[in-house]
Amino acid sequence: MNRRYDIVVHGAGIPGLALALLMVRQSPLAKKPSILLLDRHVLQVDPAVHEKPESVSDFDSRVFALTYASKRLFEEAGVWPGDHDSRVYPYEHMHVWDAGGEGQIHFDAAEIGTPSLGYIIEGRVMQDWLIAAVLKEPAIEVLSGDQLIAVAESDDVLEIQLASGQTLHTPLLVGADGAQSHVRHLAGIEIGGWSYQQQAVVATVETELDHGGTAWQLFLPGGPLAFLPMQRPWCSIVWSVSEQRAEDLCEMPDEAFLQGLTADFQQRLGQVKAVGPRARFPLRLRHANTYIAPRIALVADAAHTVHPLAGQGLNLGLQDVSALATQLQQAWSGRQDIGSRRVLRAYERSRKADNWLMQGSFDGLKRLFSNEQALLTQLRNTGLNVIDQVPLVKNAFVRKAMGI
Ligand SMILES: Cc1cc2nc3c(=O)[nH]c(=O)nc-3n(C[C@H](O)[C@H](O)[C@H](O)COP(=O)(O)OP(=O)(O)OC[C@H]3O[C@@H](n4cnc5c(N)ncnc54)[C@H](O)[C@@H]3O)c2cc1C
Repeated sequence: MNRRYDIVVHGAGIPGLALALLMVRQSPLAKKPSILLLDRHVLQVDPAVHEKPESVSDFDSRVFALTYASKRLFEEAGVWPGDHDSRVYPYEHMHVWDAGGEGQIHFDAAEIGTPSLGYIIEGRVMQDWLIAAVLKEPAIEVLSGDQLIAVAESDDVLEIQLASGQTLHTPLLVGADGAQSHVRHLAGIEIGGWSYQQQAVVATVETELDHGGTAWQLFLPGGPLAFLPMQRPWCSIVWSVSEQRAEDLCEMPDEAFLQGLTADFQQRLGQVKAVGPRARFPLRLRHANTYIAPRIALVADAAHTVHPLAGQGLNLGLQDVSALATQLQQAWSGRQDIGSRRVLRAYERSRKADNWLMQGSFDGLKRLFSNEQALLTQLRNTGLNVIDQVPLVKNAFVRKAMGI
């Protein structure tokens, strides 16, 4: 079977789904682009993920701190549920401190005049909003269980071979297929970076004291530990530790895990009383040499990954999606070739420098806070306290992080 689509999106994670929806729902022309969304998993809605949780085991271990910029993108795609989903947790405060000294900084939504600093949401909840919307869109076709095996460019089209023997034609293939991107590999795009020799252990926990609507982040010499506020009395944790410790933490009995976590978190929320299923993710910094190849564009983790200490990986990926959608809509409304080098270069130019900057900043923070050298420890603690006392600088910083 030979099929032609205006866009083929490979990877139906949150960025891939959002791009397909944005392209259809924001189309300035009555004629919507036809889109094929390919993923190895079958896309299904699951209303149970929006039900009120009753225990620590009722949560997805992948939880995200979403910025206002990402919320705006969900609104544009027509899937932001407002107050109608009880599994969206706005947080009003953020408290960051250094285990190696007295340095601390506190951010408060009231100081910048917004109702919250952002939202804590489980991955599967966001994915469900998007899948439900995608499955209702006649212009979006979904294909799962097939494999993309080869791509070849001819004059104005890309020919895509699937493992099932089908051939697809499209002016544009988008690789939204994550850190191990197959599209990136097929396009021959090199990727640089390094391993942090660390893993992030994630889980939902129950705490003795109320989280106070605060996202807590403690910098330990071994790596940052975050408690993200969800429905009371639960928090989602992201605990960055050495690879060996991550393995131990995931295998030890609950009792030992809870003791270790309570101690490392300096009992800031009292005893950590219960923990749900634990998972661990290797931490790597990656950046593709280019985001584009002939008739191919990469977005999100396919193009770059960052340390999770600032909770920005998905948010950066969604900014890529927003930037690419803007370029594609302009070309689409002008009836131009949406896969042309000019269009794709404009996308790459709008995102690459910002992603480098954010990636470099998170990497710098990671290194600064893992360094136990006495002078540096003193300097960074003083720095935190000084910034905490200068609202102009502090609030400008947090507005940038919130995507305002
Ligand atoms: C511990 C941890 C905590 C994090 N916390 C945050 C946070 O608080 N905030 C934040 O913004 N970011 C966070 N991130 C980053 C975030 O998880 C990623 O940036 C985001 O999930 C990237 O989405 P993606 O769709 O690019 O990749 P993925 O989520 O990996 O999705 C890729 C999709 O492509 C599909 N796919 C892949 N290969 C193939 C193939 N060969 N064939 C068919 N389909 C394929 C997969 O099935 C999947 O659906 C965190 C990351 C880690 C490790």
